[in-house]
Amino acid sequence: MSKNRRVKPMFSLSPVEFRDSPIAGRGVFARRPFRTGDVVVPYAPRQRKVDARDPEAVAAAETKLTLLSEQRFVIIPDTSVPGGWLCNHSCHPNAAIFSDREGRVQCTRPIAPGDEVTIFYGWVSHNEPERDPCRCGAPRCRGFINFDLSDEDAAHAHVVEGRRVTMDDVLARRLAEYGAFLHSIGQEQVQEAIANTLVRMKLRKSGSVVCAF
Ligand SMILES: [Zn+2]
Repeated sequence: MSKNRRVKPMFSLSPVEFRDSPIAGRGVFARRPFRTGDVVVPYAPRQRKVDARDPEAVAAAETKLTLLSEQRFVIIPDTSVPGGWLCNHSCHPNAAIFSDREGRVQCTRPIAPGDEVTIFYGWVSHNEPERDPCRCGAPRCRGFINFDLSDEDAAHAHVVEGRRVTMDDVLARRLAEYGAFLHSIGQEQVQEAIANTLVRMKLRKSGSVVCAF
């Protein structure tokens, strides 16, 4: 009786290709359709994982290509091997990065062959509102990749009992507006980065502080 053995194909076409992008530099392009939830490409086929407290991890973060994995490790891509780390940002992305295990780029809405695979960087800056201009070309492009928190924003936030950060209506409205945008593109996780940045700005250290939103 023959077992239902899978025959390994002689060769397989990569599901993506890496080439020049109209958005910026090199990008990732689909060679076949992807459905929501499909893994499109590993974040970094060749990588190293180092402890998040390692000075090397801190230095590598300057490249903006590192990923924090499981709150403990930093994934540093070997940039001699293309991977999901080449994905460009879009204000209307069709994929998202997941940083658990080795990190991967996963489809968040249907992608057709030839489409550029884009993610939402979710960068949060401090007193640099125009730091990262966006050229994604999406109809609802925000104009900038980064969301900026200024010292004035921080003045609208308050530390309660030395451990929680609350905010007044002015800041709450601004964050709710961005939160609604993030929700509309399925990128709610970015709110965590905003909360963390705000907490750091208020206390200059994260410690065990909990943000109230
Ligand atoms: Zn944009």
